[in-house]
Amino acid sequence: MNDSREQRALLILDLDECLIYGSKSVLHREADFRVGPYYLYRRPGLTDFINGAADAFTLAVWSSASSDYVAEIATTIRPQNSDWAFVWARERCTRRMHSETQETIYVKDLKKVKRLGYLLERVLFIDDTPDKMARNYGNAIYVSPFEGDDKDNELEVLLKYLLAIQFEPDYRNVEKRGWRNRAIST
Ligand SMILES: [Mg+2]
Repeated sequence: MNDSREQRALLILDLDECLIYGSKSVLHREADFRVGPYYLYRRPGLTDFINGAADAFTLAVWSSASSDYVAEIATTIRPQNSDWAFVWARERCTRRMHSETQETIYVKDLKKVKRLGYLLERVLFIDDTPDKMARNYGNAIYVSPFEGDDKDNELEVLLKYLLAIQFEPDYRNVEKRGWRNRAIST
């Protein structure tokens, strides 16, 4: 299993503003589903993205939201032919104070993923908030925040990009800034 092509890489997905948008009020159209007081909207192309990514990667969810909310959404958007390797919520994040704003931020430290036995060279995580990936920028792909725009095509482009780099032996050596332009040019 030393060949990176034989070993499925791990792709960790954020939820809020990344794959879905949860609003306390109804937006311009009916919500796709509801969780507690929230109206949930799927990012356009979500189902194709999850199922397409699941063909190439082991998938997991890591959100800084509360565990009940995260568990319910993860179940609702689960890939068709596989399951999440893990579903983690806020309690798995590391609490930090932002040095400038003094606000609490929840950092996702991949050390915790490494402890499960994953090789960090073969781990990617997707988030819309760069602060949450501060410990592991080399593994991070930053997406634009989704707030309900029906014309958004981020996930379609992202899947194309992920499939293009899936066999790279060490994702930390891949220049991931500007990934949208790279995906479009392949
Ligand atoms: Mg988010």
